[in-house]
Amino acid sequence: MKNSKFELLIEQLEQIPSIGKKSALKIAYSLAIENKVLALNIAHCIEDAVNCVQKCEICGGISESRICNICEDESRLFSGMLCIVGSPKDILTIEDAHIFEGVYLVVDGTQNIDFKDIIANINLYNIKEIIFAFTPTLASDAMILYIEDKLKDLNLRFSKIAQGVPTGVGLDNIDKLSLTRALESRIRI
Ligand SMILES: [Zn+2]
Repeated sequence: MKNSKFELLIEQLEQIPSIGKKSALKIAYSLAIENKVLALNIAHCIEDAVNCVQKCEICGGISESRICNICEDESRLFSGMLCIVGSPKDILTIEDAHIFEGVYLVVDGTQNIDFKDIIANINLYNIKEIIFAFTPTLASDAMILYIEDKLKDLNLRFSKIAQGVPTGVGLDNIDKLSLTRALESRIRI
């Protein structure tokens, strides 16, 4: 079976995060032998998603059009709250928990931050509070200080998500309840 199409499928599945050799074999067997219709549906969905999904021009989150649904929602745009996250994935995690009604901004490194645009949006949408929802690490603490300093003249309230989010653990690995508590009991900084 070496280098067969089935073997190739297993090899490719193994590239997916959190799928090891054993799971890859199980999934490949299930798809290619037991659930052929499901397998073709999944293949189709993957192709569609890969072709459609892009980054929102405003927040940097995942979108199927130029502007995402969240940034198009006026009630969210004018909620006064902006949540800054480190990855588009974190928006999905927070949205899934239904705990935040404002808008987001993805910041994945100090190099790429366009503060001119951010400040323009903060003024345009009358943002009053910035909530940092980074995975707690030394680097993210430094990033918070850096961003806060750049925005210090705008009369904003700054907070960051509270305890319950362990140091170094990604937001997508935290259960909903902990994430809800972390956001609700955010710390003013
Ligand atoms: Zn957006």
